[in-house]
Amino acid sequence: MDDTPASNFLQTIIGDDIASGRVATVVTRFPPEPNGFLHIGHAKSISVNFGLAEANGGRCNLRFDDTNPEKESSVYIEAIVADVRWLGYQWDGDIRYASSYFQQFYDWAVYLIKENNAYVCDLNADEAREYRGTLTEPGRNSPYRERSVEENLDLLARMKAGEFAEGAKVLRAKIDMSSPNMNMRDPILYRIRKVTHHQTGNDWSIYPTYDFAHGQEDAIEGVTHSICTLEFEDHRPLYEWFLDHLPVPSRPRQYEFGRLNPSYTVTSKRKLKQLVDEQIVDGWDDPRMPTISGMRRRGYTAASIRRFCEMIGTTRSDGVVDVAMLEFAIREDLNENAVRGMCVLNPLKVVLTDYPEDKIETLSAPRHPNRDDLGERELPFTREIYIDADDFRGEANKKYKRLVLGKRVRLRNAYVIEADEVIKDDNGEITEIHAHTIPGTLGENPADGIKPKGVIHWVSVAQGVPAEVRLYDRLFNHEAPDKGDNMFMDHINPESLSIVTNAWIEPALAAASREQQFQFEREGYFVADRFDHSADKPVFNKTIGLRDTWVDG
Ligand code: ATP
Ligand code: MG
Repeated sequence: MDDTPASNFLQTIIGDDIASGRVATVVTRFPPEPNGFLHIGHAKSISVNFGLAEANGGRCNLRFDDTNPEKESSVYIEAIVADVRWLGYQWDGDIRYASSYFQQFYDWAVYLIKENNAYVCDLNADEAREYRGTLTEPGRNSPYRERSVEENLDLLARMKAGEFAEGAKVLRAKIDMSSPNMNMRDPILYRIRKVTHHQTGNDWSIYPTYDFAHGQEDAIEGVTHSICTLEFEDHRPLYEWFLDHLPVPSRPRQYEFGRLNPSYTVTSKRKLKQLVDEQIVDGWDDPRMPTISGMRRRGYTAASIRRFCEMIGTTRSDGVVDVAMLEFAIREDLNENAVRGMCVLNPLKVVLTDYPEDKIETLSAPRHPNRDDLGERELPFTREIYIDADDFRGEANKKYKRLVLGKRVRLRNAYVIEADEVIKDDNGEITEIHAHTIPGTLGENPADGIKPKGVIHWVSVAQGVPAEVRLYDRLFNHEAPDKGDNMFMDHINPESLSIVTNAWIEPALAAASREQQFQFEREGYFVADRFDHSADKPVFNKTIGLRDTWVDG
Protein backbone atom coordinates (compact mmCIF):
# COMPACT_ATOMS: atom_id res chain seq x y z
CA MET A 1 0.00 0.00 0.00
CA ASP A 2 3.03 2.21 0.39
CA ASP A 3 3.03 4.94 -2.20
CA THR A 4 6.07 7.09 -2.48
CA PRO A 5 5.93 9.46 -5.44
CA ALA A 6 8.01 6.90 -7.29
CA SER A 7 5.17 4.44 -7.56
CA ASN A 8 1.84 6.18 -8.19
CA PHE A 9 0.04 6.49 -11.52
CA LEU A 10 0.91 10.19 -11.81
CA GLN A 11 4.59 9.37 -11.52
CA THR A 12 4.17 6.85 -14.33
CA ILE A 13 2.69 9.56 -16.56
CA ILE A 14 5.40 12.05 -15.66
CA GLY A 15 8.12 9.45 -16.11
CA ASP A 16 6.81 8.72 -19.62
CA ASP A 17 6.64 12.44 -20.46
CA ILE A 18 10.25 12.91 -19.43
CA ALA A 19 11.37 9.78 -21.28
CA SER A 20 9.59 10.82 -24.48
CA GLY A 21 11.01 14.34 -24.29
CA ARG A 22 7.55 15.95 -24.13
CA VAL A 23 8.55 17.61 -20.91
CA ALA A 24 12.02 18.81 -19.94
CA THR A 25 11.34 20.25 -16.50
CA VAL A 26 8.32 19.16 -14.51
CA VAL A 27 6.29 22.08 -13.17
CA THR A 28 3.36 21.49 -10.82
CA ARG A 29 1.45 23.82 -8.54
CA PHE A 30 -0.73 23.81 -5.47
CA PRO A 31 -3.61 26.21 -6.20
CA PRO A 32 -5.72 26.91 -3.11
CA GLU A 33 -8.59 29.34 -3.13
CA PRO A 34 -8.10 31.59 -0.07
CA ASN A 35 -11.63 31.08 1.24
CA GLY A 36 -10.80 29.01 4.31
CA PHE A 37 -7.98 27.23 6.09
CA LEU A 38 -6.31 24.21 4.53
CA HIS A 39 -7.54 20.80 5.64
CA ILE A 40 -6.16 17.27 5.55
CA GLY A 41 -7.43 16.84 1.97
CA HIS A 42 -5.29 19.78 0.91
CA ALA A 43 -2.32 18.19 2.65
CA LYS A 44 -2.78 15.29 0.25
CA SER A 45 -2.81 17.63 -2.73
CA ILE A 46 0.26 19.45 -1.40
CA SER A 47 2.07 16.19 -0.86
CA VAL A 48 1.22 15.03 -4.39
CA ASN A 49 2.19 18.26 -6.14
CA PHE A 50 5.32 19.11 -4.19
CA GLY A 51 6.27 15.44 -3.97
CA LEU A 52 6.10 14.87 -7.73
CA ALA A 53 8.06 18.03 -8.49
CA GLU A 54 10.73 17.07 -5.99
CA ALA A 55 10.97 13.46 -7.13
CA ASN A 56 11.49 14.60 -10.71
CA GLY A 57 13.86 17.48 -10.13
CA GLY A 58 11.12 19.95 -11.05
CA ARG A 59 9.40 22.93 -9.49
CA CYS A 60 6.15 23.47 -7.66
CA ASN A 61 4.37 26.82 -7.45
CA LEU A 62 2.14 28.05 -4.69
CA ARG A 63 -0.65 29.98 -6.37
CA PHE A 64 -3.75 31.49 -4.89
CA ASP A 65 -6.75 30.96 -7.12
CA ASP A 66 -8.29 34.20 -5.95
CA THR A 67 -11.06 34.85 -8.45
CA ASN A 68 -13.92 35.03 -5.95
CA PRO A 69 -13.29 38.10 -3.77
CA GLU A 70 -16.52 37.94 -1.70
CA LYS A 71 -15.46 34.74 -0.02
CA GLU A 72 -11.74 35.35 0.22
CA SER A 73 -9.50 37.19 2.64
CA SER A 74 -5.87 37.88 3.45
CA VAL A 75 -6.34 36.11 6.77
CA TYR A 76 -6.78 32.89 4.83
CA ILE A 77 -3.81 33.67 2.62
CA GLU A 78 -1.53 34.09 5.61
CA ALA A 79 -2.80 30.92 7.26
CA ILE A 80 -2.35 28.88 4.07
CA VAL A 81 1.20 30.14 3.52
CA ALA A 82 2.10 29.29 7.12
CA ASP A 83 0.58 25.81 6.80
CA VAL A 84 2.42 24.91 3.60
CA ARG A 85 5.67 26.08 5.14
CA TRP A 86 5.00 24.21 8.37
CA LEU A 87 4.36 21.02 6.41
CA GLY A 88 7.91 21.45 5.20
CA TYR A 89 7.48 22.46 1.57
CA GLN A 90 9.14 25.30 -0.31
CA TRP A 91 7.48 26.65 -3.42
CA ASP A 92 9.34 27.95 -6.45
CA GLY A 93 9.94 31.69 -6.54
CA ASP A 94 7.38 34.12 -5.20
CA ILE A 95 3.89 33.29 -4.08
CA ARG A 96 1.64 33.68 -7.10
CA TYR A 97 -1.88 35.02 -7.45
CA ALA A 98 -4.44 34.47 -10.16
CA SER A 99 -5.40 38.09 -9.58
CA SER A 100 -2.06 39.26 -10.90
CA TYR A 101 -3.13 37.82 -14.28
CA PHE A 102 -6.47 39.67 -14.37
CA GLN A 103 -5.38 42.00 -17.15
CA GLN A 104 -4.18 39.05 -19.23
CA PHE A 105 -7.51 37.24 -18.72
CA TYR A 106 -9.35 40.36 -19.79
CA ASP A 107 -7.20 40.68 -22.91
CA TRP A 108 -7.96 37.04 -23.70
CA ALA A 109 -11.66 37.67 -23.24
CA VAL A 110 -11.37 40.48 -25.82
CA TYR A 111 -9.46 38.08 -28.04
CA LEU A 112 -12.25 35.49 -27.83
CA ILE A 113 -14.83 38.13 -28.75
CA LYS A 114 -12.79 39.22 -31.75
CA GLU A 115 -12.56 35.59 -32.88
CA ASN A 116 -16.35 35.34 -32.54
CA ASN A 117 -15.91 32.87 -29.68
CA ALA A 118 -17.52 34.88 -26.87
CA TYR A 119 -20.53 37.15 -26.39
CA VAL A 120 -22.17 39.33 -23.79
CA CYS A 121 -25.44 37.80 -22.62
CA ASP A 122 -28.28 39.62 -20.83
CA LEU A 123 -30.28 36.61 -19.67
CA ASN A 124 -30.93 36.73 -15.95
CA ALA A 125 -30.02 33.76 -13.76
CA ASP A 126 -33.44 32.08 -14.02
CA GLU A 127 -33.64 32.51 -17.77
CA ALA A 128 -30.10 31.29 -18.21
CA ARG A 129 -30.92 28.15 -16.24
CA GLU A 130 -33.91 27.50 -18.41
CA TYR A 131 -31.95 27.98 -21.63
CA ARG A 132 -29.21 25.72 -20.36
CA GLY A 133 -31.26 22.53 -20.63
CA THR A 134 -30.68 19.47 -18.49
CA LEU A 135 -28.54 16.36 -18.56
CA THR A 136 -31.15 14.71 -20.79
CA GLU A 137 -32.26 17.75 -22.81
CA PRO A 138 -30.07 20.00 -24.93
CA GLY A 139 -29.96 23.70 -24.15
CA ARG A 140 -31.10 26.52 -26.42
CA ASN A 141 -29.06 29.36 -27.83
CA SER A 142 -29.32 32.63 -25.97
CA PRO A 143 -31.13 35.37 -27.92
CA TYR A 144 -27.97 37.48 -27.38
CA ARG A 145 -25.64 34.90 -28.92
CA GLU A 146 -25.40 36.59 -32.31
CA ARG A 147 -24.43 40.05 -31.16
CA SER A 148 -21.80 41.62 -33.38
CA VAL A 149 -18.15 41.67 -32.41
CA GLU A 150 -18.30 45.47 -32.10
CA GLU A 151 -21.31 45.40 -29.81
CA ASN A 152 -19.74 42.71 -27.64
CA LEU A 153 -16.47 44.64 -27.34
CA ASP A 154 -18.35 47.77 -26.39
CA LEU A 155 -20.51 45.97 -23.81
CA LEU A 156 -17.57 44.17 -22.21
CA ALA A 157 -15.67 47.45 -21.91
CA ARG A 158 -18.68 49.03 -20.26
CA MET A 159 -19.11 46.06 -17.91
CA LYS A 160 -15.51 46.62 -16.92
CA ALA A 161 -16.11 50.34 -16.47
CA GLY A 162 -18.84 49.55 -13.96
CA GLU A 163 -21.76 50.84 -16.06
CA PHE A 164 -24.08 47.89 -15.39
CA ALA A 165 -25.55 46.41 -12.27
CA GLU A 166 -24.41 43.08 -10.88
CA GLY A 167 -26.20 40.25 -12.66
CA ALA A 168 -27.31 42.44 -15.56
CA LYS A 169 -24.85 40.93 -18.01
CA VAL A 170 -22.25 38.20 -18.26
CA LEU A 171 -19.64 37.28 -20.83
CA ARG A 172 -20.05 33.76 -22.18
CA ALA A 173 -17.98 31.52 -24.40
CA LYS A 174 -19.68 30.54 -27.63
CA ILE A 175 -19.27 26.78 -27.68
CA ASP A 176 -22.19 24.39 -28.00
CA MET A 177 -25.57 24.59 -26.25
CA SER A 178 -26.33 21.00 -27.18
CA SER A 179 -23.14 19.47 -25.83
CA PRO A 180 -23.77 16.46 -23.57
CA ASN A 181 -21.19 18.05 -21.25
CA MET A 182 -23.01 20.83 -19.43
CA ASN A 183 -19.72 22.66 -18.88
CA MET A 184 -19.54 23.25 -22.65
CA ARG A 185 -22.94 24.92 -22.94
CA ASP A 186 -21.69 28.47 -23.41
CA PRO A 187 -20.11 28.74 -19.95
CA ILE A 188 -19.77 32.09 -18.19
CA LEU A 189 -16.36 33.74 -18.45
CA TYR A 190 -16.96 37.01 -16.60
CA ARG A 191 -19.46 38.26 -14.04
CA ILE A 192 -20.11 41.78 -12.82
CA ARG A 193 -19.08 41.98 -9.14
CA LYS A 194 -18.73 45.37 -7.53
CA VAL A 195 -16.64 44.21 -4.65
CA THR A 196 -13.22 45.07 -3.34
CA HIS A 197 -10.61 42.41 -3.95
CA HIS A 198 -8.02 41.66 -1.25
CA GLN A 199 -5.19 41.96 -3.81
CA THR A 200 -6.46 44.28 -6.56
CA GLY A 201 -8.65 46.59 -4.48
CA ASN A 202 -11.27 48.35 -6.60
CA ASP A 203 -9.46 47.96 -9.91
CA TRP A 204 -12.06 45.56 -11.27
CA SER A 205 -15.81 45.45 -11.30
CA ILE A 206 -15.88 42.25 -13.34
CA TYR A 207 -14.21 39.01 -12.27
CA PRO A 208 -13.36 35.91 -14.30
CA THR A 209 -14.97 32.62 -13.35
CA TYR A 210 -12.82 29.88 -11.90
CA ASP A 211 -13.22 27.91 -15.12
CA PHE A 212 -12.01 30.77 -17.31
CA ALA A 213 -9.05 31.44 -15.04
CA HIS A 214 -7.76 28.13 -13.81
CA GLY A 215 -6.32 26.51 -16.93
CA GLN A 216 -4.91 29.78 -18.24
CA GLU A 217 -3.15 30.41 -14.93
CA ASP A 218 -1.36 27.12 -15.40
CA ALA A 219 -0.51 28.02 -19.01
CA ILE A 220 0.93 31.39 -17.94
CA GLU A 221 3.10 29.71 -15.32
CA GLY A 222 4.32 26.97 -17.63
CA VAL A 223 2.77 24.27 -15.48
CA THR A 224 3.37 20.97 -17.24
CA HIS A 225 1.11 18.74 -15.15
CA SER A 226 -2.07 20.35 -13.80
CA ILE A 227 -3.01 17.90 -11.11
CA CYS A 228 -6.44 18.20 -9.57
CA THR A 229 -9.18 16.13 -8.02
CA LEU A 230 -11.74 14.06 -9.91
CA GLU A 231 -14.60 16.54 -9.76
CA PHE A 232 -12.74 18.56 -12.38
CA GLU A 233 -12.63 15.74 -14.89
CA ASP A 234 -15.78 17.05 -16.61
CA HIS A 235 -14.21 20.48 -16.83
CA ARG A 236 -11.16 19.23 -18.68
CA PRO A 237 -12.76 19.54 -22.18
CA LEU A 238 -13.57 23.16 -21.40
CA TYR A 239 -10.04 23.91 -20.19
CA GLU A 240 -8.72 22.33 -23.36
CA TRP A 241 -11.11 24.38 -25.46
CA PHE A 242 -9.67 27.55 -23.92
CA LEU A 243 -6.12 26.37 -24.56
CA ASP A 244 -7.08 25.61 -28.18
CA HIS A 245 -8.73 28.98 -28.76
CA LEU A 246 -6.35 31.34 -26.98
CA PRO A 247 -2.73 32.33 -27.76
CA VAL A 248 -1.48 30.84 -24.50
CA PRO A 249 2.27 30.57 -23.90
CA SER A 250 2.26 26.89 -22.91
CA ARG A 251 0.06 23.83 -22.93
CA PRO A 252 -0.52 22.22 -19.51
CA ARG A 253 -2.13 18.80 -19.28
CA GLN A 254 -4.62 18.02 -16.58
CA TYR A 255 -4.68 14.78 -14.60
CA GLU A 256 -7.18 13.94 -11.90
CA PHE A 257 -6.89 11.84 -8.76
CA GLY A 258 -9.38 10.83 -6.06
CA ARG A 259 -10.08 13.20 -3.19
CA LEU A 260 -8.99 12.18 0.24
CA ASN A 261 -11.99 11.63 2.49
CA PRO A 262 -11.03 10.33 5.92
CA SER A 263 -13.77 8.63 7.93
CA TYR A 264 -15.27 10.52 10.90
CA THR A 265 -14.25 13.75 9.17
CA VAL A 266 -15.64 16.40 6.88
CA THR A 267 -13.29 17.96 4.35
CA SER A 268 -15.16 20.78 2.76
CA LYS A 269 -14.21 24.33 3.52
CA ARG A 270 -17.86 25.34 3.38
CA LYS A 271 -18.78 22.87 6.10
CA LEU A 272 -15.72 23.63 8.17
CA LYS A 273 -16.62 27.30 7.96
CA GLN A 274 -20.08 26.49 9.25
CA LEU A 275 -18.54 24.77 12.30
CA VAL A 276 -16.51 27.92 12.93
CA ASP A 277 -19.34 30.38 12.26
CA GLU A 278 -21.79 28.50 14.47
CA GLN A 279 -19.13 28.24 17.18
CA ILE A 280 -19.28 24.47 17.37
CA VAL A 281 -15.51 24.75 17.50
CA ASP A 282 -13.25 27.50 18.69
CA GLY A 283 -11.98 28.76 15.33
CA TRP A 284 -10.36 27.23 12.25
CA ASP A 285 -7.38 26.07 14.30
CA ASP A 286 -9.42 24.37 17.01
CA PRO A 287 -7.54 21.13 17.77
CA ARG A 288 -10.62 19.10 16.77
CA MET A 289 -10.67 20.54 13.26
CA PRO A 290 -9.22 18.50 10.37
CA THR A 291 -7.43 21.67 9.29
CA ILE A 292 -3.65 21.68 9.10
CA SER A 293 -3.47 24.36 11.77
CA GLY A 294 -6.01 22.52 13.95
CA MET A 295 -4.02 19.31 13.67
CA ARG A 296 -0.85 21.21 14.42
CA ARG A 297 -2.39 22.62 17.57
CA ARG A 298 -3.66 19.16 18.47
CA GLY A 299 -0.07 17.91 18.41
CA TYR A 300 0.14 16.24 15.01
CA THR A 301 3.61 16.56 13.54
CA ALA A 302 4.23 17.66 9.98
CA ALA A 303 6.15 14.42 9.45
CA SER A 304 3.17 12.31 10.48
CA ILE A 305 0.83 14.15 8.11
CA ARG A 306 3.27 13.75 5.23
CA ARG A 307 3.73 10.09 6.11
CA PHE A 308 -0.04 9.54 6.15
CA CYS A 309 -0.41 11.16 2.73
CA GLU A 310 2.16 8.77 1.31
CA MET A 311 0.75 5.75 3.10
CA ILE A 312 -2.75 6.12 1.64
CA GLY A 313 -1.64 6.21 -1.96
CA THR A 314 -2.85 8.26 -4.91
CA THR A 315 -5.54 6.68 -7.02
CA ARG A 316 -8.04 7.39 -9.74
CA SER A 317 -11.05 6.74 -7.52
CA ASP A 318 -12.71 8.52 -4.64
CA GLY A 319 -12.89 6.46 -1.52
CA VAL A 320 -13.02 6.79 2.22
CA VAL A 321 -9.77 6.33 4.09
CA ASP A 322 -9.98 5.01 7.63
CA VAL A 323 -9.06 7.88 9.95
CA ALA A 324 -7.35 5.26 12.10
CA MET A 325 -4.53 5.33 9.53
CA LEU A 326 -3.93 8.97 10.29
CA GLU A 327 -4.00 8.21 13.99
CA PHE A 328 -1.59 5.34 13.39
CA ALA A 329 0.84 7.70 11.65
CA ILE A 330 0.91 10.14 14.57
CA ARG A 331 1.17 7.40 17.19
CA GLU A 332 4.08 5.85 15.36
CA ASP A 333 5.91 9.17 15.16
CA LEU A 334 5.27 10.14 18.77
CA ASN A 335 6.02 6.72 20.18
CA GLU A 336 9.42 7.04 18.63
CA ASN A 337 10.11 10.71 19.28
CA ALA A 338 7.99 12.09 22.12
CA VAL A 339 9.61 12.60 25.50
CA ARG A 340 7.94 10.77 28.39
CA GLY A 341 6.51 12.45 31.43
CA MET A 342 3.99 11.89 34.19
CA CYS A 343 0.72 13.72 34.56
CA VAL A 344 -2.05 12.82 36.98
CA LEU A 345 -5.41 13.78 35.47
CA ASN A 346 -7.62 12.93 38.42
CA PRO A 347 -5.47 13.44 41.52
CA LEU A 348 -5.82 11.38 44.69
CA LYS A 349 -3.35 12.15 47.46
CA VAL A 350 -1.18 9.39 48.87
CA VAL A 351 0.74 10.09 52.10
CA LEU A 352 3.78 7.88 52.56
CA THR A 353 3.73 7.80 56.34
CA ASP A 354 7.23 6.34 56.72
CA TYR A 355 8.82 9.01 54.54
CA PRO A 356 10.33 12.11 56.23
CA GLU A 357 8.22 15.25 55.91
CA ASP A 358 10.77 17.65 54.52
CA LYS A 359 12.74 15.24 52.42
CA ILE A 360 13.01 15.79 48.68
CA GLU A 361 14.77 13.00 46.88
CA THR A 362 15.79 13.82 43.36
CA LEU A 363 15.30 10.69 41.30
CA SER A 364 16.27 10.48 37.68
CA ALA A 365 14.27 8.93 34.87
CA PRO A 366 14.93 8.40 31.17
CA ARG A 367 13.15 10.82 28.87
CA HIS A 368 12.48 7.92 26.52
CA PRO A 369 12.65 4.16 27.18
CA ASN A 370 14.80 3.39 24.15
CA ARG A 371 16.29 6.70 23.11
CA ASP A 372 19.40 7.26 25.23
CA ASP A 373 20.15 10.29 23.08
CA LEU A 374 17.22 12.11 24.73
CA GLY A 375 18.87 11.86 28.15
CA GLU A 376 17.30 11.87 31.60
CA ARG A 377 15.02 14.13 33.58
CA GLU A 378 15.01 14.95 37.28
CA LEU A 379 12.04 13.60 39.16
CA PRO A 380 11.50 14.85 42.73
CA PHE A 381 10.07 12.37 45.21
CA THR A 382 8.38 13.47 48.45
CA ARG A 383 6.23 12.19 51.31
CA GLU A 384 3.00 13.30 49.61
CA ILE A 385 2.28 12.30 46.05
CA TYR A 386 -0.72 12.28 43.74
CA ILE A 387 -1.83 9.19 41.92
CA ASP A 388 -4.83 8.89 39.63
CA ALA A 389 -8.04 8.14 41.54
CA ASP A 390 -8.70 5.30 39.08
CA ASP A 391 -5.46 3.65 40.19
CA PHE A 392 -6.71 2.88 43.70
CA ARG A 393 -9.38 0.54 45.03
CA GLY A 394 -10.16 -0.57 48.55
CA GLU A 395 -10.62 -4.10 47.28
CA ALA A 396 -10.26 -5.59 43.86
CA ASN A 397 -9.90 -8.92 42.09
CA LYS A 398 -6.64 -10.20 40.64
CA LYS A 399 -7.14 -8.52 37.30
CA TYR A 400 -6.78 -5.08 38.84
CA LYS A 401 -3.06 -4.43 38.64
CA ARG A 402 -2.93 -1.14 40.51
CA LEU A 403 -2.97 -0.03 44.13
CA VAL A 404 -5.26 -1.97 46.48
CA LEU A 405 -5.52 -1.72 50.23
CA GLY A 406 -2.96 -4.03 51.84
CA LYS A 407 -1.29 -4.65 48.46
CA ARG A 408 1.75 -3.32 46.66
CA VAL A 409 2.27 -1.36 43.49
CA ARG A 410 5.32 0.17 41.91
CA LEU A 411 5.44 3.90 41.42
CA ARG A 412 6.84 4.43 37.94
CA ASN A 413 10.55 5.31 38.09
CA ALA A 414 10.43 5.18 41.93
CA TYR A 415 9.66 2.96 44.92
CA VAL A 416 7.32 0.10 45.50
CA ILE A 417 4.63 1.17 48.01
CA GLU A 418 2.00 -0.66 50.00
CA ALA A 419 -1.41 0.85 50.87
CA ASP A 420 -2.37 0.83 54.57
CA GLU A 421 -5.41 2.97 55.12
CA VAL A 422 -8.16 4.92 53.35
CA ILE A 423 -9.04 8.31 54.84
CA LYS A 424 -12.57 9.55 54.10
CA ASP A 425 -14.40 12.79 54.80
CA ASP A 426 -17.78 13.16 56.53
CA ASN A 427 -19.56 12.33 53.29
CA GLY A 428 -17.66 9.09 52.89
CA GLU A 429 -15.57 10.42 49.98
CA ILE A 430 -11.97 9.25 49.89
CA THR A 431 -9.67 12.19 50.64
CA GLU A 432 -6.34 10.44 50.87
CA ILE A 433 -4.59 7.12 51.13
CA HIS A 434 -1.99 6.31 53.70
CA ALA A 435 0.74 4.02 52.51
CA HIS A 436 4.39 3.25 53.14
CA THR A 437 7.39 2.71 50.92
CA ILE A 438 9.20 -0.59 50.71
CA PRO A 439 12.86 0.28 51.31
CA GLY A 440 15.48 -0.72 48.80
CA THR A 441 13.05 -0.89 45.88
CA LEU A 442 14.48 1.82 43.63
CA GLY A 443 15.06 -0.20 40.50
CA GLU A 444 14.96 -3.41 42.58
CA ASN A 445 12.24 -5.85 43.53
CA PRO A 446 11.33 -6.06 47.23
CA ALA A 447 13.82 -8.15 49.22
CA ASP A 448 11.00 -10.11 50.86
CA GLY A 449 9.95 -11.47 47.50
CA ILE A 450 6.43 -9.97 47.57
CA LYS A 451 6.21 -8.40 44.16
CA PRO A 452 4.12 -5.34 43.27
CA LYS A 453 0.93 -5.94 41.28
CA GLY A 454 1.66 -3.36 38.63
CA VAL A 455 3.12 0.05 37.85
CA ILE A 456 1.29 3.35 38.20
CA HIS A 457 2.27 6.94 37.52
CA TRP A 458 2.46 9.65 40.16
CA VAL A 459 3.53 13.25 40.77
CA SER A 460 4.94 14.88 43.91
CA VAL A 461 2.39 17.14 45.60
CA ALA A 462 4.95 19.68 46.77
CA GLN A 463 7.20 19.64 43.71
CA GLY A 464 4.62 19.04 41.00
CA VAL A 465 2.73 21.80 39.21
CA PRO A 466 -0.98 22.21 38.51
CA ALA A 467 -1.92 22.16 34.83
CA GLU A 468 -4.87 22.46 32.50
CA VAL A 469 -5.28 19.51 30.21
CA ARG A 470 -7.70 19.61 27.28
CA LEU A 471 -8.89 16.15 26.38
CA TYR A 472 -9.87 15.98 22.73
CA ASP A 473 -11.63 13.22 20.91
CA ARG A 474 -13.02 12.89 17.38
CA LEU A 475 -15.30 15.77 16.44
CA PHE A 476 -17.86 13.47 14.80
CA ASN A 477 -19.29 10.27 16.20
CA HIS A 478 -20.49 9.06 12.79
CA GLU A 479 -18.20 7.30 10.36
CA ALA A 480 -19.49 9.27 7.38
CA PRO A 481 -20.87 12.47 8.89
CA ASP A 482 -21.69 14.16 5.58
CA LYS A 483 -22.36 11.28 3.24
CA GLY A 484 -25.68 11.13 1.40
CA ASP A 485 -28.44 12.56 3.56
CA ASN A 486 -26.34 12.68 6.70
CA MET A 487 -26.57 16.13 8.18
CA PHE A 488 -23.06 16.53 9.51
CA MET A 489 -24.20 18.96 12.19
CA ASP A 490 -26.30 16.17 13.74
CA HIS A 491 -23.27 13.97 14.28
CA ILE A 492 -21.11 16.15 16.48
CA ASN A 493 -19.53 14.08 19.24
CA PRO A 494 -20.72 15.76 22.46
CA GLU A 495 -17.60 14.44 24.18
CA SER A 496 -15.11 15.84 21.70
CA LEU A 497 -13.67 18.12 24.38
CA SER A 498 -13.46 17.94 28.14
CA ILE A 499 -11.19 20.21 30.10
CA VAL A 500 -9.34 19.04 33.20
CA THR A 501 -8.40 22.11 35.19
CA ASN A 502 -6.69 20.43 38.14
CA ALA A 503 -4.26 17.98 36.60
CA TRP A 504 -0.86 17.63 38.28
CA ILE A 505 2.34 17.39 36.28
CA GLU A 506 5.96 16.65 37.10
CA PRO A 507 8.18 19.78 37.00
CA ALA A 508 9.96 18.74 33.81
CA LEU A 509 6.64 19.03 31.96
CA ALA A 510 5.96 22.56 33.17
CA ALA A 511 9.26 23.53 31.58
CA ALA A 512 8.03 22.33 28.17
CA SER A 513 8.29 24.70 25.27
CA ARG A 514 5.13 25.46 23.33
CA GLU A 515 4.30 22.77 20.77
CA GLN A 516 6.59 20.25 22.44
CA GLN A 517 5.11 16.75 22.30
CA PHE A 518 5.02 14.24 25.13
CA GLN A 519 3.80 10.86 26.03
CA PHE A 520 2.11 11.17 29.41
CA GLU A 521 2.81 7.70 30.68
CA ARG A 522 -0.24 5.45 30.67
CA GLU A 523 -2.43 8.31 29.39
CA GLY A 524 -1.54 9.08 25.82
CA TYR A 525 0.20 11.69 23.69
CA PHE A 526 -0.05 15.37 24.56
CA VAL A 527 1.36 18.64 23.34
CA ALA A 528 2.06 21.92 25.15
CA ASP A 529 -0.48 24.31 23.66
CA ARG A 530 0.88 26.48 20.88
CA PHE A 531 -0.69 29.66 22.27
CA ASP A 532 -1.78 29.20 25.88
CA HIS A 533 0.98 27.15 27.51
CA SER A 534 3.50 28.78 29.84
CA ALA A 535 5.70 27.54 32.68
CA ASP A 536 3.48 29.47 35.12
CA LYS A 537 0.24 28.20 33.68
CA PRO A 538 0.90 24.96 31.82
CA VAL A 539 -1.70 23.93 29.24
CA PHE A 540 -1.58 20.64 27.35
CA ASN A 541 -3.75 19.25 24.57
CA LYS A 542 -4.40 15.56 24.13
CA THR A 543 -3.27 14.51 20.68
CA ILE A 544 -4.31 10.88 20.78
CA GLY A 545 -4.59 7.97 23.17
CA LEU A 546 -2.00 5.25 23.41
CA ARG A 547 -4.17 2.86 21.43
CA ASP A 548 -7.26 2.97 19.29
CA THR A 549 -10.20 2.99 21.71
CA TRP A 550 -12.72 3.36 18.86
CA VAL A 551 -11.96 -0.19 17.76
CA ASP A 552 -11.84 -1.82 21.20
CA GLY A 553 -15.18 -0.21 22.07
P1 ATP B 1 -13.17 22.36 -0.53
O1 ATP B 1 -14.12 21.47 -1.24
O2 ATP B 1 -12.75 21.88 0.81
O3 ATP B 1 -13.63 23.79 -0.49
P2 ATP B 1 -11.58 22.94 -2.76
O4 ATP B 1 -11.25 21.87 -3.71
O5 ATP B 1 -12.61 23.92 -3.15
O6 ATP B 1 -11.85 22.30 -1.36
P3 ATP B 1 -9.27 24.52 -3.23
O7 ATP B 1 -8.69 25.58 -2.39
O8 ATP B 1 -9.89 24.90 -4.52
O9 ATP B 1 -10.30 23.74 -2.34
O10 ATP B 1 -8.24 23.34 -3.43
C1 ATP B 1 -6.88 23.48 -3.72
C2 ATP B 1 -6.39 22.16 -4.22
O11 ATP B 1 -6.57 21.16 -3.23
C3 ATP B 1 -7.18 21.71 -5.44
O12 ATP B 1 -6.28 21.24 -6.41
C4 ATP B 1 -8.04 20.61 -4.92
O13 ATP B 1 -8.30 19.65 -5.90
C5 ATP B 1 -7.21 20.04 -3.77
N1 ATP B 1 -8.06 19.40 -2.76
C6 ATP B 1 -9.07 19.96 -2.08
N2 ATP B 1 -9.67 19.06 -1.28
C7 ATP B 1 -9.01 17.88 -1.46
C8 ATP B 1 -9.15 16.56 -0.92
N3 ATP B 1 -10.10 16.27 -0.04
N4 ATP B 1 -8.29 15.61 -1.34
C9 ATP B 1 -7.33 15.91 -2.23
N5 ATP B 1 -7.14 17.11 -2.77
C10 ATP B 1 -7.97 18.11 -2.41
MG1 MG C 1 -12.64 25.08 -4.78
